[in-house]
Amino acid sequence: MAYPALVLKRGEEARLRAGHLWVFSNEVDVTRSPLSAFAPGDPCVIADHRGKPIGVGYVNPNSLICARLVQRGIAHALDRSLIVHRLKVALSLRERLFDEPWYRLVYGESDGLPGLTIDRFGDVLVAQTTTAGMERLKDEITAAVVKVLAPRQLWWKNDAGIRAMEHLPEYVDLGHGEPATQALLVREAGLEFECDPVGGQKTGWFYDQRFNRDHLAKLCTGKRVLDMFSYLGGWGLRAAAYGAREIVCVDASQDAVDAISRNAARNGFSDRVTAVRADAFDHLKALREQREHFDIVVLDPPAFVKRKKDLAEGRIAYRRLNELGMQVLARDGILVTCSCSWHMPRVVLLDAVQQGARHLDRQVQLLFPLHQGPDHPVHPAIPETDYLKGFILRVLPAA
Ligand code: SAH
Repeated sequence: MAYPALVLKRGEEARLRAGHLWVFSNEVDVTRSPLSAFAPGDPCVIADHRGKPIGVGYVNPNSLICARLVQRGIAHALDRSLIVHRLKVALSLRERLFDEPWYRLVYGESDGLPGLTIDRFGDVLVAQTTTAGMERLKDEITAAVVKVLAPRQLWWKNDAGIRAMEHLPEYVDLGHGEPATQALLVREAGLEFECDPVGGQKTGWFYDQRFNRDHLAKLCTGKRVLDMFSYLGGWGLRAAAYGAREIVCVDASQDAVDAISRNAARNGFSDRVTAVRADAFDHLKALREQREHFDIVVLDPPAFVKRKKDLAEGRIAYRRLNELGMQVLARDGILVTCSCSWHMPRVVLLDAVQQGARHLDRQVQLLFPLHQGPDHPVHPAIPETDYLKGFILRVLPAA
């Protein structure tokens, strides 16, 4: 293998040997392999302190995570054929899990492609790189995707804030195919949602909640539902399909609210769905003052804890939000509460809900723990891949 070696200090190979894929800059023996000798995204052979190769990866000397392992051993280069192979392995899982091609196709480290996500919307793909190493491979990825999937379009939605950590610019670009002439459609559980791969949130749709939304099936008939942080109405419109009598979706984004109305019409729910543009906390307080009550309240906010040091503050925000949610719940209501903050442990969210419940003198029963779907598989050695947590709870007056 012609790639230059990135040599680790003694003992620092243990985490990689245990399955992790990341190298932190303080683990590198910089006298033998100075990081300054590498340009962002350069391929490398990652070697232990004896010089024995662990595998092939890529470097970013400017990042705290200064290298990621892509392939164990040195038999394969970081090239199109490796990416083609990884895409096929990823695709074969999704084809087992889904009847239709709407899912997350590639989930970074968990699919052996650190720094790359690809969401699939039928014959349109929306991809994102978050590392200089993957950015460098963009043309190879595009070619590999075209070879394996022959999509009508491939978008590069490279506008995630996290790219700043690798000094990458933010942009959105059509990587392959004809420019868009129509809205992108998501199909989920028999419904159709219009979304925008260019201007929308993340890569356009939150596939991670799909299987969690299935739990609504048994809970919605004849019910009044409040979907907070609704985005395009994923939870709310699924509730409508399961027979909810009235659904109020709330989001701070006008684009999202407009799209919800269109999505409600597209699926024949206009008479039952209202979309409101508001700040969630303000709107919940207003509903509380108006003594409005809902049988089901969904709280699916953006990550409140973006950095570890924000945990204490974030915990308070989750507790406040959940208390407000419970205050607009009918007696014997259902609370769906989620957190996509990796730094917010599952048990901390549950504790926040329980403390809120005690403060309001309510009793809570945990019915369904929620988790990201299997098209976002967890890498057991990389806790960061396990980020979405939530609960479906029954909330009763105190026993
Ligand atoms: N529940 C959605 C995903 C939510 S993503 C689904 O299942 O697809 C988070 C959403 O919260 C975004 O649409 C964002 O516009 C909205 N948002 C962020 N801050 C908000 C706030 N303070 N009040 C209301 N909505 C907010």
